[in-house]
Amino acid sequence: MLKQDLLEILRCPACVREKEGLLTVEKESWLVCQDCDRKYPIVDDIPVMLIDEGDKWTATAVADLPVPPPEPK
Ligand SMILES: [Zn+2]
Repeated sequence: MLKQDLLEILRCPACVREKEGLLTVEKESWLVCQDCDRKYPIVDDIPVMLIDEGDKWTATAVADLPVPPPEPK
């Protein structure tokens, strides 16, 4: 489980320069950006905060996100 204090400092790397880029945890395995809808997987308790990775999941609804998330390649 992700530590709350870590979550409070994490921001979407694609949005943070212009907006808040606040993230919410979904299914305990994903971080979803409130501004751009990119979705970042949490793999082995480590959030994968890569814009390219977040891009892959923009069109996927939260309900359809796989748990556990696939390993980024
Ligand atoms: Zn974002």
